[in-house]
Amino acid sequence: MIEKAKKALDILLDGNKNFVESKSEFKNTKVESLISLKNGQSPIACIVTCSDSRVIPELIFDKGFGELFVVRCAGAVIGENILESVEYAVDHLKVPLVMVLSHDDCGVMKAARALYPKEPDNLQLLIRSVYEIIDSETECYNEIARNYTLTKKRKLLKRSKILRQAYHDGKFEIVRAYLNFDTGRVEIIS
Ligand SMILES: [Zn+2]
Repeated sequence: MIEKAKKALDILLDGNKNFVESKSEFKNTKVESLISLKNGQSPIACIVTCSDSRVIPELIFDKGFGELFVVRCAGAVIGENILESVEYAVDHLKVPLVMVLSHDDCGVMKAARALYPKEPDNLQLLIRSVYEIIDSETECYNEIARNYTLTKKRKLLKRSKILRQAYHDGKFEIVRAYLNFDTGRVEIIS
């Protein structure tokens, strides 16, 4: 892993350790931090994750203003808006690390697991996207959420020329991660 990405990942995991142990420092969470950043940002990582109200990157990584560039939509399904947001983080803000983070008890994974293989009436884009990795044998929805991070990583690189180029040039790394609701721990999936 490139040095800058490794450093960013260590910072995130140290912050998560604080959170898990109820020792969060809550640095950079006051209005003074926001004011000091009024002319620009330099986040350490881009977190691509679900809109779920229980998944709050700044809290689970013990971070504050200006530290994380967070891209969210339900299920963190990779669509055009998500892709372009990640491109902005990598190409313009120069983040060295993109984390694709999924989580326990995800509503989109649950819905997809329950409906498969029926054509969904609602949430069509989201559920059809998850269908790509489900088969009738597929395990529980938490397992789907975990496996789906690999699809997301591949899609980021396959569908974006900017990301593919930057990745091959060693400008950033993508890591897959999973938030466990029993402990609050973020586990890196290798
Ligand atoms: Zn979710």
